[in-house]
Amino acid sequence: MGMKKKLTAIDVVEEIKSGDISCEELILEIYERIERSELNCFITLNKENALEEAIEVDKRRSGEECRRKKLLGVPIAIKDSISTRGIQTTCASKILTGYVPPYDATVIEALKKEGAIIIGKTNMDEFCMGSSTETSYYGPTRNPHDLDRVPGGSSGGSAAAISAGETVLALGSDTGGSIRCPASFCGIAGLKPTYGLVSRYGLIAYANSLEQIGPMASNVTDTALLLEVLSAKDERDSTQVKTKNNASTNYCLSWLNGKRSGNGGEGVGVEVEVKGMKIGVPKEFIEGVSPEVEKSVWNAVHKLEDSGAIYEEISMRDLKYALAAYYIIAMSEASSNLARFDGLRYGLRTGKDEDWHTTFSRIRGEGFGEEVKRRIILGTYALSAGYYGTYYLKALKVRTLIKNEFEDALKTHDILAMPTMPFVAFKLGERIKDPLSLYLADVNTVSINLAGVPSISVPCGFSNGLPIGLQLVGKHFEEDEILKAAFVYEQTFL
Ligand code: GLN
Repeated sequence: MGMKKKLTAIDVVEEIKSGDISCEELILEIYERIERSELNCFITLNKENALEEAIEVDKRRSGEECRRKKLLGVPIAIKDSISTRGIQTTCASKILTGYVPPYDATVIEALKKEGAIIIGKTNMDEFCMGSSTETSYYGPTRNPHDLDRVPGGSSGGSAAAISAGETVLALGSDTGGSIRCPASFCGIAGLKPTYGLVSRYGLIAYANSLEQIGPMASNVTDTALLLEVLSAKDERDSTQVKTKNNASTNYCLSWLNGKRSGNGGEGVGVEVEVKGMKIGVPKEFIEGVSPEVEKSVWNAVHKLEDSGAIYEEISMRDLKYALAAYYIIAMSEASSNLARFDGLRYGLRTGKDEDWHTTFSRIRGEGFGEEVKRRIILGTYALSAGYYGTYYLKALKVRTLIKNEFEDALKTHDILAMPTMPFVAFKLGERIKDPLSLYLADVNTVSINLAGVPSISVPCGFSNGLPIGLQLVGKHFEEDEILKAAFVYEQTFL
């Protein structure tokens, strides 16, 4: 039907409600693009159900119930680490192949309530462990900007699908950068919410004390809209903080309301501006990044300055310990979380059963990929009796230092700005053989998960045709500040 390649969720909702576009045609077009694609963004498609739902939307779009839905008819792709009732959920692992969850994650319930249409489950690094989507049992996803390069990870399928117009919105999960890294590499927006804003019920755990489900979209307004839906309150996740911000009806930016009432994002009597906003730029986040990335990020900071923000270079000295602390904590938690995949509770039951020990080892040996095994072994080692104090406990102490450092920096500044990734998307196969070089790529994202603060990545330029991401970090539960700054910047970038 010659639909625009990049549709925004805000437009789709409006045009479906007004009857300007047919939801069925939109969904058909999306599947056509997916079926033609060389990117390998999806593990499982939900075509039959999605088309049925789209036909229903077209029938009921003008009814009172549909008119209230915030995501009516919007195609959304779901990272395969998030449980979807009746749709295979594999975490990109052989061990979960064929697993069909009997229940929906809370975020999926919230999406359905608001009328979103689930297109399928996206490719990712196995159990979210990686930064390139190359550890997937289902083969790597490719970067739409250059097919020989990685899309970033672990939510690489979600980011690539948005960038290539194979969905409008997507969900990712972020334990140490998994939303922001692929957003940066694929040139889209992605937000890791404050720890405790979005329910983790139904998210297959990698490292629960660090991770959040979050929105991915082609622009900042759609990111805010999706975040609003995701932050619905949930009694089933006791780590969700029940602040005033996370009732889905309250968590709404004034300018987003303005968009909805059709006055171009200016808000109803509320200006979206960064005048007087204090931005801290920590030099440790910039040291060692590639020159093009550094240049683009400074340009972005200066654009925000032109819009009235005030910036200052600051120093966060304990950051140098973040990467080591993150990997010890994440692997330790993973070694415990992944114990349930044993062929009894979860996971494929292959071959003939022998004694428990042999069967357990065989199933896990066959079912998990190299990187997952490496992390289970390292995590188990870090938690073992003789080394617990040397590694795990020490890492927890470093975590507290880093959290304090972020809180201090955010006492004197409204937000912090830095590059999301130290470089642009690298070549497929370039780093996967050397795990440490992949871990090092996360140097600018993991500290934010250790501190639990919110962070968004938005496109801020290109180097040789490859996107660069600007990362904005805010105070706990002040997602609106980083969204506002990202929105103002996006207007200057467009
Ligand atoms: N690349 C990081 C890791 O491998 C982060 C992954 C994530 O956020 N899930 O742990």
